[in-house]
Amino acid sequence: MAIFRRIGRTALVLAAALLLAGCGGGSVPARPAPSSPPAAWALAIHGGAGVTRASLAPEREAEYLAGLQAALRAGVAVLEQGGSSLDAVEQVVRLLEDDPLFNAGRGAVFNADGVNELDAAIMDGSTLACGSVAGVTTVKNPISLARLVMERTSHVLLVGDGAERFAAELGVERVAPEYFFTQQRWDGLQSTLAARKAGPGGETVGAVALDRRGNLAAATSTGGLTAKMAGRVGDSPIIGAGTYADDTTCAISASGKGEEFIRHGVARSIASWMELRGATLAEAVERVVGGVLAQDDGGVIAVDASGRIVMQFNTQGMFRGAADAHGRFEVLIWE
Ligand code: ASP
Repeated sequence: MAIFRRIGRTALVLAAALLLAGCGGGSVPARPAPSSPPAAWALAIHGGAGVTRASLAPEREAEYLAGLQAALRAGVAVLEQGGSSLDAVEQVVRLLEDDPLFNAGRGAVFNADGVNELDAAIMDGSTLACGSVAGVTTVKNPISLARLVMERTSHVLLVGDGAERFAAELGVERVAPEYFFTQQRWDGLQSTLAARKAGPGGETVGAVALDRRGNLAAATSTGGLTAKMAGRVGDSPIIGAGTYADDTTCAISASGKGEEFIRHGVARSIASWMELRGATLAEAVERVVGGVLAQDDGGVIAVDASGRIVMQFNTQGMFRGAADAHGRFEVLIWE
């Protein structure tokens, strides 16, 4: 009996796999042959989607590009020296968290109560180990606390007081809440409150990397949306929504309207297009960012196991940068 039951189950799984491969939401062409040899390492970073030409003064542009360049350079140094993708993405995100221009760490936006509640996540594509924190208010570098959740606990996500206590126990650097005060974010809160609606976010930071051992990793950190409700958690610390990494497919870090990224499980959905439908990274990202998300929802940076980088957004701009072992090194804002 058991053997028949097993055969029956196998037949069902096979039928489902055939169905999945042969029908449903449009077909994806077979993977094209790679046009360039696989990169020995690759790195993409972002400083958030949602920037508009009207909101960015030309003199500010140069400052953002310099901040991105410094972070990209630091990540490249880790990967060039044979460091891990995990170390590279953490290092990049820590630097962007320390830069008051970006909406993460020091420059985080305020919630509706005038408090900075920070979210972050990191994921190791070689083991699917991952760690996140949400709603922390005194941790200088939330991305490093997320890594400790991954490495020192059996959990994935710690929030609020519990996360703060965990940080204290491990001697993680904490700061007075005033550390996160920046005039620009405070003014942004006042004008957003006056308009009586939450948002915008923007300038969330993230990084994805492939290292010389072929391991992928992803990291994302944010203050979330300006004037968000106290306790609101966005997509960045939600594994599979704003952050995901799996060596068999890709590493993803997102920025945009968090609720939409959670609703559509954006990061895992991109990986699923590759895993289940054989889509290339570019096709998978197009399916989700171009097809599932609505105009102005946001964007992603992504890298696959061959070091191919895709950075796609449906907003006017996205602060971003890419580098690889073939000599690519660029930072960009607009299309
Ligand atoms: N995705 C972030 C959030 O919703 C915000 C952003 O990327 O700008 O919390």
